[in-house]
Amino acid sequence: MTLLTTRLAQPPALPCDGARATSTPLYQTATFAQHPDGDSRWDYSRSGNPTRDVLEVQLAALEGARHALACSSGVAALSAVLRLAHRGDHVIVGDDLYGGTCRLLRLLAEDHGVEISRAPLHEPGALRAALRGNTRLVLAESVTNPFLRVVDVGALATDLRGRDVLLAIDNTMRTPLALRPLAHGADLAIQSATKLLNGHGDVTAGVVATDDDALADSLAFRRNAEGTTLAPFEAWLLTRGLQTLPLRLRAQVAGARQVAAALPGLPGVTRVITPDDGSDVVVITLEVEDEAAARALLERTRLFRTTVSFGGVGSSISTPATMSHASMTVGERAAAGITPTLVRLSIGIEDPADLLADLEGALAAGRRCAVAGLT
Ligand SMILES: *Cc1c(COP(=O)(O)O)cnc(C)c1O
Repeated sequence: MTLLTTRLAQPPALPCDGARATSTPLYQTATFAQHPDGDSRWDYSRSGNPTRDVLEVQLAALEGARHALACSSGVAALSAVLRLAHRGDHVIVGDDLYGGTCRLLRLLAEDHGVEISRAPLHEPGALRAALRGNTRLVLAESVTNPFLRVVDVGALATDLRGRDVLLAIDNTMRTPLALRPLAHGADLAIQSATKLLNGHGDVTAGVVATDDDALADSLAFRRNAEGTTLAPFEAWLLTRGLQTLPLRLRAQVAGARQVAAALPGLPGVTRVITPDDGSDVVVITLEVEDEAAARALLERTRLFRTTVSFGGVGSSISTPATMSHASMTVGERAAAGITPTLVRLSIGIEDPADLLADLEGALAAGRRCAVAGLT
């Protein structure tokens, strides 16, 4: 048994590859010629594709799971999981969630008659208090975004022991290298692979992993029926991204630690938020004095590109209130405490000294303009 880093670096060869390619071949085809007797391993890429098979074997190894399904986006993965709840079922979700997840939950409630409750699932006892007789599913982010609150997956699983309630963990912020939700008792582990798993900002993809054969069958059926499978080219790019995931993550986490340590000393920074248990993440949330200061920081940084996403090799900066969490209603944002003074950084693989100099220059320039009464 090779170790995970080795395994990710060397995806398995395809049994059907007579050419013995040493990197994963891209089967960029919608259809496969079928045997007249109908006994074909692959027929149509929405239902099965050799390149995606390699990816899913790698994703299952990464999660330590029996099954991993690659979906067209993180939201498609979340949607497949949330649709395991039906009309009249109750779903409990965390109170600090990715904005797109909030939008999806609204659809689930309005169009599909599912009852949704929000609860501070990072607090002990909150899940038990929220449970009802018709609770079917619990969805939490392992480290929340943008407040970086840490959820104890094992404690949630313990609270659900003996009940017919599924525990799903959106582990996008941590990745399976830092936390494997299934090993802590979750039934389903979700990733937006668009973020760290791919890491290069050129793929939109999602993953659901599970050890439960029946759940995997049900999710695979739904994914094929609804057409949310990952396309071959994206599967190929993501397989390549996974080869360097351990290296990238190590560099980005180290960079984030260095930047987070220096941020409190920079001009105009009023608060720096990192996970309170010291979890390894590449995101840092900070607060500045007012909305104008937040806007000025985004405009003045050069190395941090203004983008909604995170986890790529290039550092990025965003204001959650107007970007990643803009799809929430004003009331949802207010309840979650997502104010216009919050700024989220994602640290890439650049030299942390350059990143700090960039932030310091942008903050100092913003300060000088504010003092001079300029915007
Ligand atoms: C980005 C993100 C998603 C959605 O993933 P997409 O790939 O953009 O569809 C879901 N959950 C979290 C925590 C995310 O950051």
